[in-house]
Amino acid sequence: MRSTRAVGRLTVTCLTDARGTFTLLPPHEAFPEADAVDWDRARDLDPEAFGPDDSWQLGFHCFAIERPGGMIMLIDTGVGPENAPAARWAPMPGRLPEALGELGVDVRDINTVVQTHLHADHLGWAVTPAGAPMFPNAAYVVQRAEIAGLRAAGSPLIRTVIEPLRATGQLREIDGEVDLVGGSTAGPRVTAVPTPGHTAGHQSVMVADGKQHLVITGDVLVHAVQLANPEVRYAFESDPRLAHESRRRILTHAEAHEAPLATAHLNRPFINVGGPLARPQ
Ligand SMILES: [Zn+2]
Repeated sequence: MRSTRAVGRLTVTCLTDARGTFTLLPPHEAFPEADAVDWDRARDLDPEAFGPDDSWQLGFHCFAIERPGGMIMLIDTGVGPENAPAARWAPMPGRLPEALGELGVDVRDINTVVQTHLHADHLGWAVTPAGAPMFPNAAYVVQRAEIAGLRAAGSPLIRTVIEPLRATGQLREIDGEVDLVGGSTAGPRVTAVPTPGHTAGHQSVMVADGKQHLVITGDVLVHAVQLANPEVRYAFESDPRLAHESRRRILTHAEAHEAPLATAHLNRPFINVGGPLARPQ
């Protein structure tokens, strides 16, 4: 299965930090509205998600975006090392550093890290266990609303992840849609787009060059059952109505531009949408 896609002059690579069983809820409780037809379609789209004893098998993927001779951007930082904040429930430790090494990328080569959101399974390698930014030359792009949400909830991640990034001047808080690469002229373009609902400040990443497009969704959809039927809510969405709106918007964009989806948790690195039912590939 190909783990790399060209988008014009850009290359997008899936870096799988971990794989395993979702342990917090059984699938029928995680997606309470899904019916038998939705589950059948989901099975066609992502057969590897269906493990023994009705278990949900999922990947924990990050993505690298490269421009030859130019920038290397990382989208999300996985479950992290042993004892990272996701250790309570995610398969640990992750292997993102090894996956970057296989790609020939050193942590110092990365100039931008986009955090789609600040759940523990997406920020695991953002800072080292000693509390320093893992990617010393990167700006870390986070929606301001996401940090405000964590702060309002009294999350310890403010102290353990956000403050160390702020202390070195590497935290880049953004508001709304922002071009991270290109924008004003023709050529490769990478854009952070707010897709709230899974969390308050969730964002996705649109990648485009010429007529070629790709969408890095983050957790706009976390299981193929939400691709089979975007109405299906996920039990841990902070605002299910907004999450549904964001999911619709992203899928409409992807369909209009024939853009493959790069999701964080489906087992295939990339998946095409289009027609009455999404097609796996
Ligand atoms: Zn996630």
